[in-house]
Amino acid sequence: MKTVDLRVVHKGGAPAEPFRLQGWVRSHRASKQVSFIEFSDGTSITHLQLVVEPALPSYAAIAARITTGAAVEVIGTLVDSPGGKQKYEFRVSGIQLVGDADAATYPLQKKGHTLEFLREIQHLRPRTNTLGAVFRLRSAAAMAIHRFFDEQGFYYVHTPIITTSDAEGAGEMFHVTTLDLANVPKIDGHVDFSKDFFNAEASLTVSGQLEGEIVATALKKIYTFGPTFRAENSNTARHLSEFWMIEPEVAFLDLEGNMALGESFIKYLITDVLDHCEDELAFLHAREWVKEPGLMDTLKALANSTFEKLDYTEAIRILEKSGKSFDFPVKWGIDLQTEHERYLTDEHVKGPVFVVNYPKQIKAFYMKVNADDKTVRAMDMLVPRLGEIIGGSQREERHDVLLNRIRQMGLPEANYWWYLELRKFGTVPHSGFGLGFERFLMYASGMQNIRDVIPFPRFPGFARF
Ligand code: ATP
Ligand code: MN
Repeated sequence: MKTVDLRVVHKGGAPAEPFRLQGWVRSHRASKQVSFIEFSDGTSITHLQLVVEPALPSYAAIAARITTGAAVEVIGTLVDSPGGKQKYEFRVSGIQLVGDADAATYPLQKKGHTLEFLREIQHLRPRTNTLGAVFRLRSAAAMAIHRFFDEQGFYYVHTPIITTSDAEGAGEMFHVTTLDLANVPKIDGHVDFSKDFFNAEASLTVSGQLEGEIVATALKKIYTFGPTFRAENSNTARHLSEFWMIEPEVAFLDLEGNMALGESFIKYLITDVLDHCEDELAFLHAREWVKEPGLMDTLKALANSTFEKLDYTEAIRILEKSGKSFDFPVKWGIDLQTEHERYLTDEHVKGPVFVVNYPKQIKAFYMKVNADDKTVRAMDMLVPRLGEIIGGSQREERHDVLLNRIRQMGLPEANYWWYLELRKFGTVPHSGFGLGFERFLMYASGMQNIRDVIPFPRFPGFARF
């Protein structure tokens, strides 16, 4: 007998003859005439109503153990539903209990647990409607990302997770070490990393970009999609200590081309997840914490819109003229804070916007310096509700200018010898960006906290499960 997933059943793929379902009980309502089991197998946001004759021997034997959370296997057929609530239901001809769920202690008895509470039970929360929908969306979005780049002729590159270079030059990295922490070898008061596993100071990567540039200047168009680690003490709803980043890197591409790539990428992803997960999105958008009416229409409209572009200098002027009193005062040279980004997207543009040409002091060393020598060819894509979801730039391809920047910023020049050599041998203009996967998921789903769009969030003070 065939075992069929609910997602197939709901797409009209149920066989006419009896078939098997495997999943979990959501609720059980027993009565003398007929019993109802609300059933879900995790493959679809939509559950299925199982209808059982109480006299059915396989049911009668286990009826008391068919509790919320219990695992069951049922055999039966799909039939039209007489009630108005659903089009069809499943008439059970046999049921088997696979795993009990103790009614007194199973935590997901009632609906409506807070997301905060669910974060304390990450081993069970994928079974809820909300987190289930998010994780199916996450999977579909990951597939869409690979599909987009494959269709555009990009190669998928695996950049290292353990690294001895600090891509952002920001120093917010987790150490990777096998040194005995109770007895750390030292020279002149400093840790002697030459005694460590890699004979050098090693960390978890904050970005695959620099290595991505190596391969892009060989295979032309590449992307990475992998875990990224930041030891920044940002206890916000938009930051994780471990997140996933997508980083395309393209040789012979300038900033304009980079923006066009970012725009078509986001549009493709939105269109694709609307295609594959509209039910999940509709469910998520209707949650009580989503305060944005018509989010679905906004997403649909996005695919046909043109993203606005703002020069950083112009953005500063708009913020100064806004009449708003921001917590962080606005003046040329500041890094845009979330409150500034949100004014630009939510109130000024009312949609996604690229901000380009940031002051060089606030951006990373590898960004191409503009002719004004004050700004760099950086681009951030900002979206309503969230602010930055993409950060990117055209890279500095001129050897001497790059070397100067490294020196001016006081970075350890010797560490970048290979990065500098890329500028000595067949250097080309090239560009790329990083999209935070979880930021994208927040944007599409309307989820308010980044900890609820990744199965196992890590943030300051928390790395359980
Ligand atoms: P932010 O200013 O929002 O902290 P950033 O400028 O430090 O971000 P980049 O170094 O430009 O971020 O990284 C590229 C992208 O990675 C960002 O646009 C964002 O989508 C995502 N990102 C960065 N830091 C985090 C984080 N701690 N958790 C989740 N996503 C992140
Ligand atoms: Mn950034």
